[in-house]
Amino acid sequence: MTITGTDFTESTFLRQQPVKMLIGGQWVEAASGKTFETMNPSTGQVLAKVAEGDSEDIDRAVAAARKAFESGVWPKLTPSQRGRLLWKLADLIEQHAEELAQLETLNNGKPIKYSRGGDVPLTADHFRYFAGWATKLEGDTIPVSIPNMFTYTLREPVGVVGQIIPWNFPLQMAAWKLAPALACGNTVILKPAEQTPLSALRLGELIGEAGFPDGVVNIVPGFGETAGAALAAHPDVDKIAFTGSTEVGKLILQASVGNLKKVTLELGGKSPNIIFPDADLKFAIRGAINAIFFNQGQVCTAGSRLFVHKSVYDQVLSGLTDYASKMKLGMGIDPATDLGPLVSQEQLERVTGYIETGKREGATTTIGGSRPDSEQLPGYFVQPTVFDNVKDEMTIAREEIFGPVVVALPFEEVEEVAARANKSIYGLSAGVWTNDVKKVHKMAAALKAGVVWVNTYNQFDAAAPFGGYKQSGYGREMGHAVLDAYTQIKTVWVNLR
Ligand code: ADP
Repeated sequence: MTITGTDFTESTFLRQQPVKMLIGGQWVEAASGKTFETMNPSTGQVLAKVAEGDSEDIDRAVAAARKAFESGVWPKLTPSQRGRLLWKLADLIEQHAEELAQLETLNNGKPIKYSRGGDVPLTADHFRYFAGWATKLEGDTIPVSIPNMFTYTLREPVGVVGQIIPWNFPLQMAAWKLAPALACGNTVILKPAEQTPLSALRLGELIGEAGFPDGVVNIVPGFGETAGAALAAHPDVDKIAFTGSTEVGKLILQASVGNLKKVTLELGGKSPNIIFPDADLKFAIRGAINAIFFNQGQVCTAGSRLFVHKSVYDQVLSGLTDYASKMKLGMGIDPATDLGPLVSQEQLERVTGYIETGKREGATTTIGGSRPDSEQLPGYFVQPTVFDNVKDEMTIAREEIFGPVVVALPFEEVEEVAARANKSIYGLSAGVWTNDVKKVHKMAAALKAGVVWVNTYNQFDAAAPFGGYKQSGYGREMGHAVLDAYTQIKTVWVNLR
């Protein structure tokens, strides 16, 4: 897809501030009248003021979603009509692609080339893929062994769904959550991350323009501890879908207990990326760079533990260092930028804190390890950082850093590296680089992770299931696997005697 459409500077979206929230088809201020500031991480300056939702706004949004669900305006719309609206939304996203790409980059900091080439087209794609599913949600006829019984299943929506998303891919995370929920006939309250609420709110305007009935999608920006917690605990919400940290995922699960909500969680990772000596090393080094530095390492699947066979360790490390030294740090909006800023001051402190811990525990850097000149780059920037002399037990080799920081770890044997790769509380993804077909399948079977990439990394497609083993989460997103998360099965027995 070529990115065209309205330029952000021509957009009226940020002209009226504070940016309001979407409840029951209306754009409204917070009940409390409160607002919060959202930043441009490339400059550290305020980008916009946004209505600050809290529990009262969540109550209003849940009531609107419940009304839209029970009245049937959404679940009883024909599947074909639901599919058409999702498809129309994808068209509108494409019509406003340039505006959305710029907005995403301004609010998140990510390089504009990725917002244009990845975030926006993949968001449109996601709605298209699930537009197709709306007409294909079939039940089964069951050959029971009781005479004269006709038994079949219906796949029905779960109901009112709360969706809480993170700041690393604000538009795509909104699409991963909204598209399948809506295709299956649920109504939604979406809470974007407090750091990056803007693109989801602009998407809300496009949802209105597409013609979705009022209350089907409600968008409440606000903080996690207030708006997020109120949504997770709300007694009239049937399901919560969450993407974020493992720590908050556990809080969500606790909050869901009151009315036993269905919960799906996509959480953290500390993914192993393993280079065998028979791999195409040039290709593998580029792959390792993409695995850790894409989106400034703020990716739950980031290949942050790089295992390299001892015989090629020095070669890979010097290739990696050389490649990282050529990456251009810059403002997100500059088309030449390879690495933008981190999303916030808090994230900057977290990442630089881990870098200091790594050095204190005895690891050394081959490149990076500090912030670039803050006069030239005043935002939340940190240099791409490669750690050598790392032990598996060190903090930087165990904990999720969520920044452009990779630890390199030498290994000798297949079984040894599989065991070390699996020694983690996480199990989201893993990478393997080899040209030996036996190693490919041995490793794919041995790795305890929801996704294994072989001779590639960070591939995502609306049709391919994604989710975690162990403390990386519950349930799967994307593909037909996610339909189980947004539907429930009803079994009907009819006595034909
Ligand atoms: P990060 O640490 O990367 O910012 P979080 O897991 O804290 O990730 O945030 C992901 C999402 O979860 C955000 O939308 C945030 O507002 C929300 N959130 C944070 N704390 C809570 C909470 N206690 N209850 C519900 N949602 C929360």
